[in-house]
Amino acid sequence: MKTNCMSCRYYRIEDEQQGRCRVEAKRTDGDSPEKAVVRHDHSCGEWVDCGQQYFIRIGWLKARKTTQAYQKT
Ligand code: SF4
Repeated sequence: MKTNCMSCRYYRIEDEQQGRCRVEAKRTDGDSPEKAVVRHDHSCGEWVDCGQQYFIRIGWLKARKTTQAYQKT
C-alpha cells in the first residue's frame, strides 16, 4: 500500500480528486481551510496508516463513479 493521503488516517475524501487533511487543518487553525485540501496522491511525514478505511474509500469512489456514469445515460 502506498503511503499517500488516500491511505492516511488524517484524510477525509471529498471527491474523485481530493479531500481534506486534519493535520493541515490543525496547522492553519481554521484560518485557511483551503490549505487543508490535498490530492489523493499527496503525502507527507505525518502519514499514519488508516487500515481498512483505505478499502472503504476505494469502494466509495467506485460506487460514486458508477452512479455518475449511470446518471449520464
Ligand atoms: S497531508 Fe499527510 S497527514 Fe495529511 S492526509 Fe496526507 S499524508 Fe496524511
